[in-house]
Amino acid sequence: ILDTKDLKINQVLINGKEAKFTVGERHSFKGSPLEITLPSALSKNQEVVVEVSYETSPKSSALQWLTPEQTSGKKHPFLFSQCQAIHCRAILPCQDTPSVKITYYAEVSVPKDLVALMSAVRDGDESDPADATRKIYKFSQKVPIPCYLVALVVGALESRKIGPRTLVWSEKEQVEKSAYEFSETEAMLKIAEDLGGPYVWGQYDLLVLPPSFPYGGMENPCLTFVTPTLLAGDRSLSNVIAHEISHSWTGNLVTNKTWDHFWLNEGHTVYLERHICGRLFGEKFRHFHALGGWGELQNSIKTFGDTNPFTKLVVDLKDIDPDVAYSLVPYEKGFALLFYLEQLLGGPEIFLGFLKAYVQNFSYKSVATDEWKGFLYSYFKDKVNLLDTVDWNAWLHSPGMPPVKPKYDMTLTNACIALSQRWIKASEGDLNSFCSADLKEMSSHQLVEFLAQLLLKMVAPLHSVQVGRGYSFGSKNGHR
Ligand SMILES: [Zn+2]
Repeated sequence: ILDTKDLKINQVLINGKEAKFTVGERHSFKGSPLEITLPSALSKNQEVVVEVSYETSPKSSALQWLTPEQTSGKKHPFLFSQCQAIHCRAILPCQDTPSVKITYYAEVSVPKDLVALMSAVRDGDESDPADATRKIYKFSQKVPIPCYLVALVVGALESRKIGPRTLVWSEKEQVEKSAYEFSETEAMLKIAEDLGGPYVWGQYDLLVLPPSFPYGGMENPCLTFVTPTLLAGDRSLSNVIAHEISHSWTGNLVTNKTWDHFWLNEGHTVYLERHICGRLFGEKFRHFHALGGWGELQNSIKTFGDTNPFTKLVVDLKDIDPDVAYSLVPYEKGFALLFYLEQLLGGPEIFLGFLKAYVQNFSYKSVATDEWKGFLYSYFKDKVNLLDTVDWNAWLHSPGMPPVKPKYDMTLTNACIALSQRWIKASEGDLNSFCSADLKEMSSHQLVEFLAQLLLKMVAPLHSVQVGRGYSFGSKNGHR
C-alpha cells in the first residue's frame, strides 16, 4: 500500500507484468491509498520491481507553478516543490513517512531554455532524444533520505560558484546578490562538520527562489531552498543558512521517526545553528539569539493558549494534518530543552560531545523521543543523578512554557532594552536628542530586538513615527 494524493494511476507493472491495483477513497489531507496486489508466485526475499505509470494533478499540494509574470525574469514559467511534511505523495506514490528512507535516481525532461534541479547530486544532462526542443537532466541521491526531502525545481536558472562544494542558483536577476549574501557558506559548513562530523552529501548548493516561496528555507539535501527575502545586502540573515546547513546532520541524516517527534529535527538544528553563529560572531551573540528564541516561544504559546496540546514538545498528530500543527514551538521549546541540558550537564563543549555522538549513533536512521532520551542517559551515565532532576514530563509532555528557564547572557539584549527605555521615557522635547549614532554599535538583529522592545511597551504612536524618521528605517530595504 503506497500513499498517493491527487495522482492519476494509469498502470502498475510488477517485474514487467501488469498487476492489479485499486485506489482507495480520498481522505481530506492524507490522500488515497494505492493498493497493489502482488503475484502469488513470489518467494521469500525475492526482489520485486514495481513500476507505476501515473500523472500528477495541476492542484498537487506539493507543487507550485508560477506564471512568467510571477518570476523576476518575466519570460519563463517556474516550478518548485515542497514535500514536508506529507506532500511527497502528491508528486509520486511512496511510503510517505519519515520512518522509511530511500535513495533515488531521476531523469527530468524540460524545455531547453529551462534548467531542472533536484535534492540530489547532478549526474549530467543531454538533449532529449524524443524531442529536440527539450533537455534531460539526471540526478542521483545515494544517501538514503526520508521522502519529504525529495525536491524539484525548474526555471530559467543560472549558477555562480561560491565555495569548493557550493553553487548558488537563482534567476539571473538575483545571482550576483545571492553570491555576495551567502559567501559565508563554506566557513559555516566547516564549523558544522567540526560539530556534527563529516558532510556526507557531497555537494551543498543553494537555490534562491522567486518571492512567492512561503518558507525562510527548506533543507532539501544537496540543494537548500531559500527565500529571496534573505537577500538583505549585508549578510545579516545568514543564520537561516546556518540552520539549513545544520539540517544536513539533524533532520536529513538523523530523522524524526514521525511528525510527533518533529522537535528532534528542529530543536537540534536550532541548537547547531546557534553554535555555528556563535563560533562566527561570539558566544554573546549565541546567547542573544537564544534569548530571542525564548521570547518567540512565549509569543507562540500565547497565541495558541498555554493549554493547547500543540504547545507540547512531543505532540499527538493522530488524524491531525501536520501543516495545521506547525509552529515555532518544536524549534524553540526544543532548543530551550537542549540549552537547559547544556547548562545542567557541564557547558557547551560537553553537550556538543553528546550531540556529535547522537548524530553518529542515529545516522541514516529515524528516531523517536524515547530513543533520544535513552541515548542521552547512556551517554551521560556518570550524570544520571543530574538527569533525574529534569522534570521530563513537564518538558516533553505538558503544554505551555517549559518548567525551567535557562540562563542567558544579557549583554547584547541589555543594549536594546536601554535604548528602548530612552525612547519610552522621552518627552516631546527630548526627541531631538536621538540620532543615527545610537544604532552604530548595533547589529541588525539587535535593531529588530530594539523595535520589539518598543512594541512590547506600546510607545505612543507619535514616538513610533519619530523612531522611524530619526533612524531612517525603511530607506534601504524592508529586510534589515
Ligand atoms: Zn529547520
